[in-house]
Amino acid sequence: MIKVANLNVSYGAVKALRDVSFEAPSGAITAVLGANGAGKTTLLRTISALVEPQSGQIFLDERNLVGMRPEAIARLGVAHVPEGRGVIGEFTVDENLRLGAIAHKVTLAEGIAEQFELFPILKERRKQYAATLSGGERQMLAVARAMIAQPTVLLLDEPSLGLAPKVTFDIMTTIRQLCESRKLTVLLVEQNAKSALRIADFATVLHVGTAIASRPAAEVAADDSLREYYLGMPSS
Ligand code: ATP
Repeated sequence: MIKVANLNVSYGAVKALRDVSFEAPSGAITAVLGANGAGKTTLLRTISALVEPQSGQIFLDERNLVGMRPEAIARLGVAHVPEGRGVIGEFTVDENLRLGAIAHKVTLAEGIAEQFELFPILKERRKQYAATLSGGERQMLAVARAMIAQPTVLLLDEPSLGLAPKVTFDIMTTIRQLCESRKLTVLLVEQNAKSALRIADFATVLHVGTAIASRPAAEVAADDSLREYYLGMPSS
């Protein structure tokens, strides 16, 4: 599991995370929800050591990740799919996947074949430049590239960004299936609370850098004041 304890992160005078604590149980999806600027991306970037916290701990099982290098954290099985997907547009689907395999020293053919099994649409598009894929296909490529490393923890930053509702639905369903079939621990950062809560087991709500609620997803979805004031979802 991932346990975040009293995490504080600032960018100069801007406090992005204030004493954030929550747990993301293993083999489950924990949604991290909140409005623009709530600190969601900062949280994921801090877990991956792309941002250094001022104080606090991040435990992966018993190990404190704070102070470790990003590549060491990746080697522990933590994969990060950044906001904007991070695939290389001038490379084909195949080349993007090869890059993922090389970076993680996974046997090329096996690693790629497995991703094509998980994401058949990518097999059809394998010679196509990533820049010419649809937003949903690009998101799948980003997830597939991360999955090549056979991670145990998947950090996903706003996978629904810019996608139509139907495509978002499909991506979220795929994430749920991956979590179950690979026993993945998923931290799912989303502004789109409704879509994330549909597939999440737990949810943490951030509001200007503070974790104001960490509960089972169904409880967050049923809480009218959280829905209305913090998640932009009208009352049920
Ligand atoms: P969004 O949904 O819009 O991506 P977010 O919840 O992911 O927002 P963050 O991107 O983590 O929020 O930003 C949290 C706060 O930190 C914001 O006030 C933002 O302006 C600030 N911030 C983020 N990155 C930097 C940076 N590199 N330098 C200075 N301030 C930053």
